[in-house]
Amino acid sequence: MLNILIFIFGLLIGSFLNVVIYRLPAGKSIVFPRSQCSQCQSKLGAKDLIPVFSYLLLGGRCRYCNSRFSLQYPVVEFLTGLLFLLLYQQYSLGSQFLVYSFLLALLIPASVIDFKQQIIPNQINYFGIGAGLIFSVLFNHISLFSSLLGIVAAGGVLLLLAVVSGGMGMGDVKFLAMIGSFLGPRLALYSLFVGSLLGSVVLLPLMIAGIKDRKDRIPFGPLITLGAVMVILGGEQIIDLYLNLFRFN
Ligand SMILES: [Zn+2]
Repeated sequence: MLNILIFIFGLLIGSFLNVVIYRLPAGKSIVFPRSQCSQCQSKLGAKDLIPVFSYLLLGGRCRYCNSRFSLQYPVVEFLTGLLFLLLYQQYSLGSQFLVYSFLLALLIPASVIDFKQQIIPNQINYFGIGAGLIFSVLFNHISLFSSLLGIVAAGGVLLLLAVVSGGMGMGDVKFLAMIGSFLGPRLALYSLFVGSLLGSVVLLPLMIAGIKDRKDRIPFGPLITLGAVMVILGGEQIIDLYLNLFRFN
């Protein structure tokens, strides 16, 4: 029963994250006004805003003007629900669930915005760094020192990479610093490594096939997020697996 409630809670948070994804880069308030169709401006009622289900029931179209809604809406909602459910199964209800689900609720909109617009908004990064520090004091899942070190070390490593290689922006640096503030230096750096490894698995064939250019900007936000999700959900097993990949014997 609690599984279903957690999943529904995740769907509702996902629905809010869609609002963040749509309004934050446009500089609009994420609280007011009520949601409306971007084509016909009709105000959307409660029955239009049930996560995933409204989209499926209406065939992904506006009830009033029949224009198509982006598939992004149900995907973000479903993904958030699913990840919250997986977090709950891994950690049950407690401070870790709270801290990690809060972090996910920052990583998801940042990744989608980064993927669509090649930018990670400062509002998310700064808010997240502050929240990570406060959570370390409130919940002590990591020490405040570890949280600070996470910001400096994870952000520092990426800053160095950005200076040396280019192809990465300050948004990415602050983004990893935010993950460091929640996870501490070790897990934040593993998130980066796992994300980069996944990135090269996906991107190398695309580069070889000539679909992607070396100069194309790599979407680090979604890749690092994928790394962080795997590190949070997989824990030590993912890290062992990763280390084994690079051990020759
Ligand atoms: Zn409409």
